[in-house]
Amino acid sequence: MFHVKHSGPRFDVVVVGGGHAGCEAAAAAARMGAKVALVTHRFDRIGEMSCNPAIGGLGKGHLVREVDALGGLIGEVADEAAIQYRLLNRSRGPAVQGPRAQADRNLYRQAMQSRIRALPSLTVIEDEVSELVLDGVAVSGVLGVATGLIGCAAVVLTTGTFLGGVMHIGRDQRQGGRADDPSSITLSKQIRSLGFRTGRLKTGTPARLEARSIDFSACTVQEADLDPVYFSALTEATQQAQIPCYVTTTTEQTHAIIRENIHASAMYSGNISGVGPRYCPSIEDKVMRFADKEQHNVFLEPETLDAELIYPNGISTSLPESVQHAFLRTIPGLENVTVRRLGYAIEYDFIDPRELTHRLESLRCPGLFLAGQINGTTGYEEAAALGLVAGANAALVASGDARSFIVHRFDGYIGVLVDDLVSKGVTEPYRMFTSRAEFRLSLRIDNADARLHEIGRAFGLIDEDRHRTHQKFLQDAAVLQAHLEDVQATAIHADMIGIKLNTSSSKKSLYDLLGYPNVHIDQLLGFLPDAPTVSDRVKRFVDAQGRYCGLLKKQVAEIEQQRRLGQLPIPLDFEFFRVSGLSSAQREQLQARKPETVYEATQLETMTPAAVSALIPYLARKAPHSESSAP
Ligand code: FAD
Repeated sequence: MFHVKHSGPRFDVVVVGGGHAGCEAAAAAARMGAKVALVTHRFDRIGEMSCNPAIGGLGKGHLVREVDALGGLIGEVADEAAIQYRLLNRSRGPAVQGPRAQADRNLYRQAMQSRIRALPSLTVIEDEVSELVLDGVAVSGVLGVATGLIGCAAVVLTTGTFLGGVMHIGRDQRQGGRADDPSSITLSKQIRSLGFRTGRLKTGTPARLEARSIDFSACTVQEADLDPVYFSALTEATQQAQIPCYVTTTTEQTHAIIRENIHASAMYSGNISGVGPRYCPSIEDKVMRFADKEQHNVFLEPETLDAELIYPNGISTSLPESVQHAFLRTIPGLENVTVRRLGYAIEYDFIDPRELTHRLESLRCPGLFLAGQINGTTGYEEAAALGLVAGANAALVASGDARSFIVHRFDGYIGVLVDDLVSKGVTEPYRMFTSRAEFRLSLRIDNADARLHEIGRAFGLIDEDRHRTHQKFLQDAAVLQAHLEDVQATAIHADMIGIKLNTSSSKKSLYDLLGYPNVHIDQLLGFLPDAPTVSDRVKRFVDAQGRYCGLLKKQVAEIEQQRRLGQLPIPLDFEFFRVSGLSSAQREQLQARKPETVYEATQLETMTPAAVSALIPYLARKAPHSESSAP
């Protein structure tokens, strides 16, 4: 299966890069029946977590649940490696809660590698891709440094931080895609020469610390959740021992050392031209930008189950070695710390995602798809989500299937992510937040499968096992809901759970009580001794559906209207200049981007609700029937 040595193999889809985007892209294409090659520097680095060993969080956890609902790998792999589950925003509503888990980075890598190995139509080729091979403007393969020509119908490029990667520690600079890996120089040059609009972004990582040199008694303990929320619908139990993290803080002394040496920071000294993530600043940034803050939290997170190495979350840095040592030792618990690896910053090329369609296919080179950090995002979860979309569409192209695999923004955070990128572009590394989604109440972690399972199934992304699990989930949820609906709520029930029932209004069932603030499904199930025993996942789903029932009715109607209008196709030869009511900027952009549906048109920066209203009558007259690209 590995190490194809001879020249000239041919595949349906070639995925370049075995990171978080590449693995999902390759696996999605393979699940859809494509013959796939995953070309990456080293097999043993597949699934490497380049920065913090944690998956999920606010918005990011939603993406993981959605990738899992579409049959992807990241959720199951994260559950297999999770050593501390924590549900973020637990005290707030289900719509904005974010599942997160600390992962053992070795177990994570192993779990990802074994899943990649298990895909029968997937071949891993250990090589560096130096060039895209083009037939006219369309891509027809890649050139591997050792393998030579690898032919294919579609390429998914997922090179992460490797394109033109330069690593910085203080004034030291060297080429590299991340610690211990080379950067991709020739490929970066070719991409520029093809005319792709590129830019430079940067990100950073903190030092790694030896656990036995840390005094944890000086820190606050942060335990794992007792009732973990898993990422994958297929996970039924916690698979690894759960271990604590610790919290400490920077001190005035830490800040003084950083301020004194700020001129030597690569991030600050002007050595790096790329733009970094504002919401994930380096410690230099935090000290300089928030000068009035006396301390910043530092989360000491184990990198593996044996907790030999610690990742100090919150203090990424590109200060010189001596300064890193000095400031670390001013942090309570770290007075005698041993540094195993220094923190560093990395600067790399990204390609303007406005070069892509909603399928993540290049407008410039048909058959070329881009996913992951190369699109200007940051994070494993964003990369995985983009990888799945690109891999699925690449498989469609390779099989001659004219459909597009598109998740709309009202169906999932994956849709929000793709939409935001391809229509607005990026000015800094893009990270997902729940605030980016307009339909937050509908896009919850508990209903990711309910929203996306059928879409995934229509495209062949879901296997029979997962389908059976989903059917059982829906059945259990329906039975549980029916039990709650069958019982009329009384003043006694209301009294027992501390709410006031309006007796003059229409009759209410126990299910209706979920819409009252602070009512939880477990309280109501206490009234139903004959209620079926169901999983926590089913309970959370029914609880959230009941809680948001009233609000969702309005949102669902709005979504349905948008879906109907959005599905109107726009013919490729449509002449936008004939539409009166559009500004010249709108006409120009529509003509240049050639959106395939009204939905895609609405996502362009220049479009306004009035412009969409002007466009629709022309299309409604033309469309014989409205047929969506997504089912
Ligand atoms: P990667 O995971 O980087 O994978 C790229 C893959 O492509 C690698 O397997 C590589 O070997 C392969 N490859 C590259 N070029 C070629 C080629 N020419 N031929 C063959 N194979 C090739 N994310 C956060 O969310 N928060 C952070 O704080 C954060 N900090 C980071 C700090 C550093 C120093 C780095 C390096 C990354 C950081 N990240 C952070 C980003 C996170 O690691 C990425 O978002 C994520 O890994 C992106 O996934 P990807 O699949 O796009 O790329």
